[in-house]
Amino acid sequence: MRILLVEDEPGVARFIRQGLTEAGYAVDVAQDGREGLAYGLSAEYDAVVLDLMLPKMNGLEVLRELRHQQFKTPVLLLTARDGVDDRVQGLDAGADDYLVKPFAFPELLARLRALLRRPPLQAGTLLQLADLQMNLATREVHRAGKLLEFSPREFSLLELLLRHPNQVLTRTQILEHVWNFNFYGDSNVVDVYIGYLRRKVDLGFAPPLIHTVRGVGFRLSERFD
Ligand code: CA
Repeated sequence: MRILLVEDEPGVARFIRQGLTEAGYAVDVAQDGREGLAYGLSAEYDAVVLDLMLPKMNGLEVLRELRHQQFKTPVLLLTARDGVDDRVQGLDAGADDYLVKPFAFPELLARLRALLRRPPLQAGTLLQLADLQMNLATREVHRAGKLLEFSPREFSLLELLLRHPNQVLTRTQILEHVWNFNFYGDSNVVDVYIGYLRRKVDLGFAPPLIHTVRGVGFRLSERFD
């Protein structure tokens, strides 16, 4: 999952970015409102964490402009303790939720998880394909009842595949969602991680669920066609 964080205070931005990265998200940071708007409109994000008090363009203006441009991604606002009006205006302008500063990091993660499971194709905290089940709340994955262990990055990749069952995802789409802008490595890294997933998800189980679509990308599916 790829998150856009728009936050001008370097210490806060660093803290949030580090926490989200450790939780397995790919994070891009924009340092003012105008940059946030440009990032938001130029890449596919799964969620946006948007501070309200920003230089150049405040969070509310950014949010209004994003929604005006048909930006559908869930937005979590960061607001000041006494900013009741800000919160109301923010929700009216199309924010999906807000969090009052200062906040406990686990709460930010919980809010994000809630936002990320709101719009996907399969509702609820469970993503499932065939006998493969991912619980987003507990972060447990089972196949045929057996518990599988994943690194945060592998989990993120599998989550992306499970959110788009039977759809081909290109290496670029996967890189964009699971890694981030600052990743300049070889897109071969996707193949490497798909290999890790195969060993855990498909080895010793039938049928195989992770399929390579030659020259295009990868698909999670029960079918072979
Ligand atoms: Ca700020």
